Amino acid sequence: MTWSNRLSNSVQSIAPSGIRKFFDIAAQMEDVISLGVGEPDFITPWTIRESCVYGLERGYTSYTANRGTLELRTEIANHYKKFFNVEYNPNTDILVTVGVSEALDLALRAVVNPGDEVLIPEPCYVSYAACTTLAGGIPVPVPAKIENEFRITPEELEKFLSPKTKVILIGYPNNPTGAIMTREDLLKVADFAEKNDLIVISDEIYGDLTYDGVHECFSALPKMRDRTILLNGFSKAYAMTGWRVGYALGNSDFIGAMTKIHQYTMLCAPITAQIAAVEALRNGEKYMKKMVAEYDRRRHLIYDGFKNLALESFEPKGAFYIFPNITSTGLSAEDFAEKLIVAEHVALVPGTAFGNCGAGHVRCSYATSIEKISEALNRIEHFLKKVRGA
Ligand code: PLP
Repeated sequence: MTWSNRLSNSVQSIAPSGIRKFFDIAAQMEDVISLGVGEPDFITPWTIRESCVYGLERGYTSYTANRGTLELRTEIANHYKKFFNVEYNPNTDILVTVGVSEALDLALRAVVNPGDEVLIPEPCYVSYAACTTLAGGIPVPVPAKIENEFRITPEELEKFLSPKTKVILIGYPNNPTGAIMTREDLLKVADFAEKNDLIVISDEIYGDLTYDGVHECFSALPKMRDRTILLNGFSKAYAMTGWRVGYALGNSDFIGAMTKIHQYTMLCAPITAQIAAVEALRNGEKYMKKMVAEYDRRRHLIYDGFKNLALESFEPKGAFYIFPNITSTGLSAEDFAEKLIVAEHVALVPGTAFGNCGAGHVRCSYATSIEKISEALNRIEHFLKKVRGA
């Protein structure tokens, strides 16, 4: 007997994540070099881990306020005031969540009605379209083209605007392309949002991982604070993926609505992770900067490596991904990824996992050691020789 026809329509309409598939293949092999998973290879800095150990020692094992501890919300508010000069009231405008993953789900569920359209620049993080569908909305992909360094423009957005459009969901620095948006680019998107009265959900989880200049915070742009739900977290910048802590910032109506869902579904983020997150914001910056400097070294290595292999690639400016074009091999992105892992035991992700606009590309994460990246490049060179018949 099968129960699959008893599942909800929305869950049946979404596909499993294309990232996990290659992760699972890799898990069954020995000697695999994974450029597949978007996770720092560093351990969380000791001062952050230690704060949690002391927290446990002192008996901090309970629930916290639904919105998160006031201590953490206050640190987050101070951080945004200090770095971006944008103000959030810790009592009403900040919600601590179980990673950006939960914050994204809550943001969409808080503002999307059935049939509302959400403009999503693609290629993009795998959850954007799926979470939109689960919230009852309609994801509308908007191509962010390589000719434009994978940035989104109002001209492109305009083509996909309809009377049902309610939200723009952007994620820069971008997973999977490594693209960033300059202040000028973002101001144009802000104008577009204002003109068409759209809500902006801005996923800035890679905001601390930029290599050419500083990150521009969307909600700090003129008139954008109240229109924006800003998402951020600790997973990437502080190597804290397993702690599961993130947050959402916005006007009190948006955050209040998200808190309502959160209190019924999640209750609160783990207290241990919240204690650690406070320490990350208070004393983690220097460790974070060291990790970013190391990603930058790896970024140069992998970018030059692909150039030498004649796999054309956009030079990533943020996050820890590179998105080379593999069309010159004559293989589709899926075939390239599958043949490469079987032949050479190198795992990467086909660009189509990030939307149809990712066709002809593969995503490689360089959040792995210099030695492993070098060896992966050797193996890819060997693979390309066979594919190109050299
Ligand atoms: N947003 C983007 C763009 C990501 O790449 C990821 C994880 O890969 C997430 C959100 C989820 O992050 P978290 O660990 O905070 O749930």
